[in-house]
Amino acid sequence: MLSEIHSIALEGPVALPVRIDVSSTSGLRFTLVGASEPTLRECQKRIRAALLAIGMRWPGRQITAAFSPADRRYEGASFDLPLALGVLLASGKIPSRFQKIWAMGEIQLNGQVAQTRGSAAFVYAAQKANAEVILLPHKASAEWESTEGVVFVENLRQAVDFFHTGVKPKPSLEQAPLAPDPKPFLWDSIKGQEAAKWSLLYAALGGPHTLLVGPPGIGKSLLAKSLGELISSPTPTQSAEILAIYSAMGRLDEWPGKQRRPFRAPHPSISATALVGGGHPIQPGEISLAHQGILFLDEWAEISSSALEALRKPLEEGEIRIGRAGRGLSFPARFQLIAATNACPCGPSSICHCSRSQIERYRRRFSGPLMDRMGIIVQLENKRRSQPHTVEEPEASLSLSQAKILLRNAQGIKEKRHASVGYDRSVQNSDVPLSRLLDVLLATPEALEVMDRASRKRNLSHRSVHQLFRLARTVADVEGKLKMSGHHVVKALNHFQQPM
Ligand SMILES: [Zn+2]
Repeated sequence: MLSEIHSIALEGPVALPVRIDVSSTSGLRFTLVGASEPTLRECQKRIRAALLAIGMRWPGRQITAAFSPADRRYEGASFDLPLALGVLLASGKIPSRFQKIWAMGEIQLNGQVAQTRGSAAFVYAAQKANAEVILLPHKASAEWESTEGVVFVENLRQAVDFFHTGVKPKPSLEQAPLAPDPKPFLWDSIKGQEAAKWSLLYAALGGPHTLLVGPPGIGKSLLAKSLGELISSPTPTQSAEILAIYSAMGRLDEWPGKQRRPFRAPHPSISATALVGGGHPIQPGEISLAHQGILFLDEWAEISSSALEALRKPLEEGEIRIGRAGRGLSFPARFQLIAATNACPCGPSSICHCSRSQIERYRRRFSGPLMDRMGIIVQLENKRRSQPHTVEEPEASLSLSQAKILLRNAQGIKEKRHASVGYDRSVQNSDVPLSRLLDVLLATPEALEVMDRASRKRNLSHRSVHQLFRLARTVADVEGKLKMSGHHVVKALNHFQQPM
């Protein structure tokens, strides 16, 4: 008899589907085809012992299990459960009442099924393949709440019973779902950075990469973190993608939770490999952990040029391809970059003492192609220091709740505008390709004229002009205007202050 069970093999955060075909014929040998790795060879011992522990026996038959695709190395104990079920199905010890069975989990000698890395990635892959039943260890339930088709089993006995009865086993104890600690709102604690807050509002709506320039201690990282409070929650699909990455990488303790997007802030000393991925075996980097969220790079000028160079392609493509002999792996990496830097090497606490050439050398480090991809450039100033004699008066501060209302309304305008020109309403302004930019802007002739003058005066690159158009469009969206006028361009220019 034959049986067919599906599972996954992990390559970094990517779950690759695996099919396991098991056949039982007369004879007594056990053969694994396409799987040579020792932990996998041990599986027969574990399954045998586990069957005995639940009062069953390894069938007295010739069993052949074939893994496909065959040109891959399979390792780890997560194939125990699919193999055990395949063997029991093929030898007729359990009835074959389901089509498209997916399973993963390590079987212990006493019959318990233990959790292995990547269960969320597994469920994600199984659902995409329209699995009928998805069996996985009970402990995984914390990372994947009850989902259609998912059957949690604590031990092999429950799995066997499920095949006999079709009734899902009841969990013996409820697990508390993983939830991040609620944190106090940062946004409202930031005082006196109104221009920066508006920049962040535009960053949250339009999705552009953003550079914050200013002296140390002015709150650049606080501003970057507070953007995390403003951006929308991930859609269910995005949320599943994020969870799958953290699950597959065994980093669930760092998972931001279902309702939040990742915020990653690696140290400036990070290597290119740790940032974008690579190594042996190939591991994804911070940019994949930041997928569908924010990558915050503080002290931008301190980051190695190789690491910055490595960012260029994924910033454009939304994924990272890492070559390996024979084939390349690609990991998702669609993130919003928020970078921060001092304006000069001394990071002026009062007065800058750097020479012109020192400053130029410093700024060259973060110039070039990456600078061209910045859609917002904010110059932060320490108001209290520059105006020591003014009494600190409360500015009309943009609160988090006001910002959220503005965002929601602007989102509505953007969708309406995109629909009116037959453009996908879910696309962000920063994603609009050049070929559609002019259609989507709905710019007045005056707006184009203002932009033209500014680009000549400031000697802006083509890329910068396109970024500014997108930003001006976002400003108009926030103001609730369908038409983008000159005044929106002027405002955008204020949030795009390239360091000279
Ligand atoms: Zn200086």
